[in-house]
Amino acid sequence: MSTTDSATNRQENQQQTQEPQSQQKQRPPDHNRTGLNFRLPMPRPKVRGPVVDFHCHLLANRHAHDWFDAADHYGIHQFVTMTQLEEAVGLQRDWGHRLQFIAVAHWGNLHVPADWFDDYRRRVEGFFNLGSRIVKFHAAPGTMASRGKRLDDPAFRPIFQDAIGRGMAIMTHIGDPQTWYDAKYTDPAKYFGTRDDHYRMWESLLEEYKGVPWVGAHMGGNPEDLHRLQALLDRFPDLWLDCSATRWMVREISARRDAARDFFIRNQDRIIFGSDQVSGDDRHFDFLASRFWCHRKLWETAYVGPSPIFDPDLPADRQPEMRGLALPDVVLQKIYHDNPVRFMKNIGVEMEGWG
Ligand SMILES: [Zn+2]
Repeated sequence: MSTTDSATNRQENQQQTQEPQSQQKQRPPDHNRTGLNFRLPMPRPKVRGPVVDFHCHLLANRHAHDWFDAADHYGIHQFVTMTQLEEAVGLQRDWGHRLQFIAVAHWGNLHVPADWFDDYRRRVEGFFNLGSRIVKFHAAPGTMASRGKRLDDPAFRPIFQDAIGRGMAIMTHIGDPQTWYDAKYTDPAKYFGTRDDHYRMWESLLEEYKGVPWVGAHMGGNPEDLHRLQALLDRFPDLWLDCSATRWMVREISARRDAARDFFIRNQDRIIFGSDQVSGDDRHFDFLASRFWCHRKLWETAYVGPSPIFDPDLPADRQPEMRGLALPDVVLQKIYHDNPVRFMKNIGVEMEGWG
């Protein structure tokens, strides 16, 4: 340790001892503001066959130990993950019996590389060779603005055609939380229009590629508007929805609990469970567990109470109350297992033997 470090440490120590008593008490972490013990036993979901998390981001092999520790505790066996190609190979080798990969573009750079679209095509091919049969297109308003292109831009066409030519399914992220539209996406010129424009764009693509199995991520990106989602499902028979994104679903599904429950029961053959869990170097058992805990409470139980996870989209004194859907067993069987297995079988992937 250098002398400068020691000096800084001393200063910090001094500052800490000078802080008033109340500030010295550690604030609870955002993933556990209610002080839950996430290691308490929870019975596994009442499902025959392995439970599948159809939308998640296990980003690196070094995160897998904590990831599967938490997953095992919460009875979730198989994962359909969006992982960078560079990490997918190691994960495939060590955890391939529990994973299926969704082909994704290179991400992580703030700037768009000049050959980003060609690179995307090469990655789709690489993922296909690893067994992937789904391609993800991220077209949230912020993503479109930073890329400077809508998803129906001709530049995306070769990637769609590569995917469809290989018999792959599509997953899209269209839309975003209404709280973000209200707070961030207020300039339609910058974000390629309004939410309605973004959904018109999506519908034109669904129309153009009719017959291709398609997953609308995060309840089609609009759990706030179940009427819009019903209209999409009614019009496009090959469209499925995943119910991933923990804070978003906790907030918006709970806010319209009874209507959401009716929606899930009505569309029980078209909804697939996903967590949108994202691994990270600083995300260990408790963080990962908090996401699984919330999803299981939200879909399986009639829990009414605070969410352990802080929702930064709402002020601290207006945090959402979680209201569980207590979905019937037959619906849970479908969203946790039967639907993902059926979706994958449809694109030539046998998942039954997994686990
Ligand atoms: Zn995601």
